[in-house]
Amino acid sequence: MTPVGTRTAPAGAASDLATGPEHLLLGSDTAASYARAVVETVLRVSDRVAATPQAFTGISPAALAAEVDQVDLSRPLPDLAAALDELEPLYLRDAVWFHHPRYLAHLNCPVAVPALAAEAIIAAVNSSMDTWDQSAGATLIERRLVDWTADRVGLGPDADGVFTSGGTQSNLQALLLAREAAAGPDAGNRDLSRLRVLASRDAHFSVTTSAKLLGLAPEAVIAVDVDADRRMDAASLRRELAAVAGQGLVPMAVVATAGTTDFGVVDPLRAIADACRAAGVWLHVDAAYGCGLLVSPRRRHLLAGIERADSVTVDFHKSFFQPVSSSAVLVRDRAVLRHVRHHADYLNPERHVRRSIPNQVDKSLQTTRRFDALKLWLTLRVMGADGVGRLFDDVVDLAADVAGLVAADPRFELASVPELSTVVFRCTPEPGLPEDVSDALVLAVREGLSAHGEAVVASTTVDGRHHLKLTLLNPRTTLRDVAQVLDLAAVHAERSLAVIRDEEAVR
Ligand SMILES: *Cc1c(COP(=O)(O)O)cnc(C)c1O
Repeated sequence: MTPVGTRTAPAGAASDLATGPEHLLLGSDTAASYARAVVETVLRVSDRVAATPQAFTGISPAALAAEVDQVDLSRPLPDLAAALDELEPLYLRDAVWFHHPRYLAHLNCPVAVPALAAEAIIAAVNSSMDTWDQSAGATLIERRLVDWTADRVGLGPDADGVFTSGGTQSNLQALLLAREAAAGPDAGNRDLSRLRVLASRDAHFSVTTSAKLLGLAPEAVIAVDVDADRRMDAASLRRELAAVAGQGLVPMAVVATAGTTDFGVVDPLRAIADACRAAGVWLHVDAAYGCGLLVSPRRRHLLAGIERADSVTVDFHKSFFQPVSSSAVLVRDRAVLRHVRHHADYLNPERHVRRSIPNQVDKSLQTTRRFDALKLWLTLRVMGADGVGRLFDDVVDLAADVAGLVAADPRFELASVPELSTVVFRCTPEPGLPEDVSDALVLAVREGLSAHGEAVVASTTVDGRHHLKLTLLNPRTTLRDVAQVLDLAAVHAERSLAVIRDEEAVR
């Protein structure tokens, strides 16, 4: 194989081109060397993926930082092959691999191969989604996918939306639209300090970040109580809405979560929609995690009520097996998107609007934007919506089985019964451990599993107490895989309890 990055000069090409940086720019004369470079790179990655013994090596930040820091960025290597060799110990050797069956930590999925093929197209063609004259057909493909998703949600004939970088940005844009709807165009009415957002205690932190960015008061986000299953309590929501009105404040939006990040529960969407309608409040449904249910053959009913939302966040990079980034914000009434429209004479002049030239920048907070939608397009065209949904159903089934295993095992204590695919629990090597010891065990188990390269798990707090969290998004992880990780967790818990006891004895 010709070394990567070394241009095979077509006959008659200027020979000094091969030594100049311009031979590393994609163009008609470098198309063949580009293909070789990408193929060789992909082969390296596929070799790694085929032989990944563990989800993570457990290397420390300090050890890696030393290696990364000693690279002299002002002195390039001879070619791409050398740069890839150098990258091996800096990144690939110790990367965290989401496809590994013992990666059980956060909302990261193994990715669909058609989506990876799409990445190759996206990167090389490099369309930018802001205007038709930078994207052409890409704009139409994105619009079809937005319509398709809005149709799955059931938002009705006037729905629209746009792809975003992630749930954080989708939530921000939805709340910006809600703010504009609530505050109105009338300057006298725009007292942002009076606006309130109501979300459950377990809503994603990006709701609070968004409120801050939108200029709302520090106390603008009201945490609505959850019930015993950790779903937003609809009666508490109605009470909070009445209290907000009673104080002369303006309820700007209610954020319902369809799949909370920690517990994977879906708030009672119908009851929340009823409360929003009665109070005339914007309903945003954050389905960043739960959007996989939109294609689930067996569990679509869990999202009943989502069709009554004013806006919806979906993260295809969580439950549609898409590579980061792939997300969208959807709205019931496309007219509200006018709040993010900005006319720049050089991008989307008024005459484009008159001639119906579709410019997605009219709907987005971003200007230059990747054609991430193509990943979902190729995935749906090859795997099918049912195929994606079946995979998501599989991980929800797995979580139910794992929860059953944990609940039946005296070494553990299950925090709550999962509705989607997270399992939250504690280790109980002995009954009746003091809370601080129990908290210490959780962190020791998480770190122990990671440091030994045995598994990657997460932790969170439940009512102030540390718990372990497994997020199951890999349909190829088996109950046996998880059972082995649970055994290892129990061993780490026992060991660290013994260490704690020894330390207590010394004191
Ligand atoms: C992950 C998540 C987000 C944030 O999405 P990003 O894609 O990480 O920006 C928002 N809401 C919920 C419920 C999430 O789980």
